[in-house]
Amino acid sequence: MSEAPTSPYAQLSDKDFDITLRPKTLHEFVGQKKLKEKLNICIVAAKQRKQPIEHILFHGPPGLGKTTLAYIMANELGVKISTTSGPALEKVGDLAAILTSLSDGDILFIDEIHRLKSNIEEALYPAMEDFKLDIILGQGPSAKVMRLSLKRFTLIGATTRSGSLGGALRDRFGIVERIGLYPSEELKDIVLRSAGILKIEIDKKGAFEIAKRSRGTPRVANRLLRRVRDWAQVNNIQRITQEIADKALEVFGVDEAGLSEMDRKLLLTIIKNHGGGPVGLKTLEAALGEEESTIMDVYEPFLLQEGFLERTKQGRVATPKAYKHLKIKASGELF
Ligand code: ADP
Repeated sequence: MSEAPTSPYAQLSDKDFDITLRPKTLHEFVGQKKLKEKLNICIVAAKQRKQPIEHILFHGPPGLGKTTLAYIMANELGVKISTTSGPALEKVGDLAAILTSLSDGDILFIDEIHRLKSNIEEALYPAMEDFKLDIILGQGPSAKVMRLSLKRFTLIGATTRSGSLGGALRDRFGIVERIGLYPSEELKDIVLRSAGILKIEIDKKGAFEIAKRSRGTPRVANRLLRRVRDWAQVNNIQRITQEIADKALEVFGVDEAGLSEMDRKLLLTIIKNHGGGPVGLKTLEAALGEEESTIMDVYEPFLLQEGFLERTKQGRVATPKAYKHLKIKASGELF
């Protein structure tokens, strides 16, 4: 997309933007009031006792701030944070290399922790509980177990799938917190904050229009803000208002209910090809060309929350609200 060549953000990818816009303190982290209160208590108590905080598990859909919170915890506690992800850890040796580099109180952040291999997960149990790591040296009958002592680190795990996490791992987290989708008012504040950082001129109504269409997700809100800014720029518009946000988002296929083209395609597949459902996830995967996990983690939470979709034992069902929104009669004809 077109960025002004002089913009300091011209070369930034989505990931770089995530980092640029990441709040550094709990105070800057918008919304999630109760969660912030609880985390603040952990931070203050740990500082007073001069002890590391308990292991924490954050779960919820992608883009809601799980990684951001891990960095905030490290920043507020004044400790180092090392990050990795479930699929990135191949061997126990990889885990050992990270764990042995940590000092007392440091944080290890493991994203997509539900995707850890079972050997790594098992090695984590004593590491989390007793700060010990067993490494097997050699193979066969001559193999030896070497027990490493670790510093008292804190593990922060993030997952979009708490259900896929084994009970044994889950039980080793002292704090388990779910992060839910954000209301539009809070997303509006996130858009205004990001616009301030990126030096984008926007009024409150413009920010609210973007917020409303952001699927309850800060990462989406930030992405849409940039798309709207691009549109405004190529149309020589200085300030983003509600009208401008509305026009721009229409161009990018986000409708007034916040549904993207893929959301609409998902609902249309259920309605047009399967009489409104129930439809199994595998069928949707084939029809949409998206992985099951993406459908479940990225698209469904918002559609379920907004009442466009229901999950039943037999499969996914489009609700009357979905028919109405897509202007389709129960018979399948258009209104
Ligand atoms: P997750 O790890 O849950 O996928 P991230 O922590 O990477 O999500 O957040 C995605 C983007 O949204 C980042 O740029 C982040 O700073 C921003 N963000 C998430 N939550 C908030 C919030 N509560 N306030 C402000 N920005 C947020």
